[in-house]
Amino acid sequence: MIKIMKIAFLYLLTLLVSNSFAQKLPLEENNFQSVTSHKQLSEFVKELDNFSDLLKTEEIGKSVEGREIFVLKFSKDEFGEDDTKLRILFFAQQHGNEQSGKEGALILAKRLLEKENKFLFDKIDFALIPQVNPDGSEVNKRRNANNVDLNRNHLLLEEPEVQAVHNLFNKYNFEVTLDVHEYYPYSQDWKDFGFYKRADEQLGMITNPNVSERIKSFQKEKVFPFISDWLHSRKFSFNEYVVGGPPNIERLRHSTVDINDGRQSLGILNTLSFILEGKNGKDNFIENIKHRAEGQAEAMLALLNFCFKYANDIKNLIAHERKELLNDNSPVAVQMDHFNDGNKFVLPVTSYPEERDTVIQIENYNRSIKKLLEVPQPDAYLVPKACSLSVGFLNNHKIYYHDNTPQLGNLQIYNIEKIDTIEIEGEKFGNPTVSIIEKKINEIDAEKYYVVPLNQPKRKVIVLAFEPQSMLGLRNYEKFKKLLQTGINYPIFRFIKD
Ligand SMILES: [Zn+2]
Repeated sequence: MIKIMKIAFLYLLTLLVSNSFAQKLPLEENNFQSVTSHKQLSEFVKELDNFSDLLKTEEIGKSVEGREIFVLKFSKDEFGEDDTKLRILFFAQQHGNEQSGKEGALILAKRLLEKENKFLFDKIDFALIPQVNPDGSEVNKRRNANNVDLNRNHLLLEEPEVQAVHNLFNKYNFEVTLDVHEYYPYSQDWKDFGFYKRADEQLGMITNPNVSERIKSFQKEKVFPFISDWLHSRKFSFNEYVVGGPPNIERLRHSTVDINDGRQSLGILNTLSFILEGKNGKDNFIENIKHRAEGQAEAMLALLNFCFKYANDIKNLIAHERKELLNDNSPVAVQMDHFNDGNKFVLPVTSYPEERDTVIQIENYNRSIKKLLEVPQPDAYLVPKACSLSVGFLNNHKIYYHDNTPQLGNLQIYNIEKIDTIEIEGEKFGNPTVSIIEKKINEIDAEKYYVVPLNQPKRKVIVLAFEPQSMLGLRNYEKFKKLLQTGINYPIFRFIKD
């Protein structure tokens, strides 16, 4: 009896002093035969919370079908309270059929509780959302239960899952963000070409030309080589994130410039923002899931280690660039396109059908961005109080506006003369020809308008959303189409101080 008690006591003692979380991951419990369900994830993240003082699990919102969305907040103190700490946010599985992001996030969470990784939180407060789209995940579908692609909803911000992410972002003003995805390399056009993209992991950086050049070059020159070395030395293949069809058929570029996704929507606020793309399984689901999940976890851990090493540099860079942004009244590029600047890209690929690893040199590599049209910034926009869609947009973004319309100043009102169609980045846009009608503000019934001043952190979001010629603007979305009509003045006015 005493012996049994002694053993039990020793066992309890081991549990108490044990440094790492011994429980298996849900994926392991499932023998890698099925992915982590929302129920398993909920239980697991709560157990992690119970196990460690380093992290707190909180619910940040609910999906369309009412499933909880969780954040795991890692901090040695009160999260977000110590202003010397670098604030970092990673979020995974906006696309429900990209399962390895979630699985990788859970591996990462467990690894971060291991003794050898705890040093990271001397300089970092880290928030991890392992699953943004639980409804999509449960049925292995890309979109949420409203059939919306969440990673195209960061400008409208209408879906509860995306709102949860942005509300959390707004609360802590994270300096570094990472949006975790998977890419599918096995499409028919690449198969016909005879190769498919090989990289276990691809890292995408901010490309929108309105984002601070200093942040973008920091990504390319500092972050990218660090992650590359880290992953290659751990036997994961890696390259910069490229999209596009096979070489010389469709041009290759570094994804979209649109601010409606998880990377650019936060990047445009001068955040050190990234997208991570792991390689999906051939069956888009379970194939190779262990390796896929470990690759995602390793890439995320690499970025955390980079952030620890350069914490002060990043804090200084972001603080400086965000301060500059408040007063940056330089023209905003509202139309832009990728072009080939003569650089070539070496793409790691695997051959069909013999599965031989090789590389191909890409000639039609459209790395650079050309500004096609810039507009000067006004001091503010005037938005009709009656335009509930535009006001809803302001509210979703928590953009500051007021109704103390100034007595003095000039208005610029767009007259829409005609609307042609242009194609940029493979998408068609209505491209209006505009002329400007100048008025004094006291010539209109100013009480019917809200004033949206531009000296605020979302100033470039506001310009890109409201300018009628913006290829990234609200008027490109179906429900906002009526904003832009030939022969009618554009309802949102530009205000210029006297
Ligand atoms: Zn995705």
